[in-house]
Amino acid sequence: MGLAACEMDPDFLAIGLGALPNADGEIELDASMMDGSDLSAGAVCSLQNIVPAISVARHVMEDTPHLMLAGDQAKRFAISKGFEPRNLMTAESIKHLDDWRAGNAPYKYLHVTDDHVHGDTVTMIGLEDPGHLVAASSTSGIAWKLPGRVGDSPIVGAGIYADDEVGAAGATGLGEELWKACASFRTVEAMKRGLTPQQACEETILHMIRRQARAMEHACVVFAMNKEGEYGAAITDGTFHLWICQDGAVTVREYNGMGL
Ligand code: ASP
Repeated sequence: MGLAACEMDPDFLAIGLGALPNADGEIELDASMMDGSDLSAGAVCSLQNIVPAISVARHVMEDTPHLMLAGDQAKRFAISKGFEPRNLMTAESIKHLDDWRAGNAPYKYLHVTDDHVHGDTVTMIGLEDPGHLVAASSTSGIAWKLPGRVGDSPIVGAGIYADDEVGAAGATGLGEELWKACASFRTVEAMKRGLTPQQACEETILHMIRRQARAMEHACVVFAMNKEGEYGAAITDGTFHLWICQDGAVTVREYNGMGL
């Protein structure tokens, strides 16, 4: 799966190996996946020293009666499934940590006045064969987060949602706000009411802009696809690039903030 490959790439700063750590200098990973055929799902949060987190989430979904495992217990579960614990910090992530500790990091943590807040996530939604939808997300969360902080990405309904009866949605951006909005579930529900994916995403983002002042602090994105394969995306502020892969061809579409 694409997410696992991204996590294993040490040069990919966003997720998995070589990502940006929490305030204690430890990389904590969150991941989730959902199968729209029967609404089954699996997730892990605050997982340390194990990659790919998304594969552990799959084991939670397929091999346990539970939805989410957290922290040390998620790590113990992963080890029981054959994952080898390892140090996820690379020379580059250590350098970013040192820079942050020295007050020089280009990536800062959740202050409105900072010029760049860094949080990175890869979220995917997919349509397979006639009408089967899946959604998955993997993240190291917001850089320099408080240890134990969990964002939207591993939360079914917030970071991802998939329902074969309607469509699928995914999110990226400031997890606290996306979670409060139940952004992915909200968007799928809007499609259920008859909105197109684009209209549904815009409705969610406009709701966030209207009701959640902090949704403009760090861009919040939701994107969606219905069971017919139509798609859309919307963002509170800034610019978002949606990568669309269809029949082996990749195109990129740009979306601009709705908040101005
Ligand atoms: N949503 C992620 C989180 O809050 C971060 C991101 O997507 O940039 O953990």
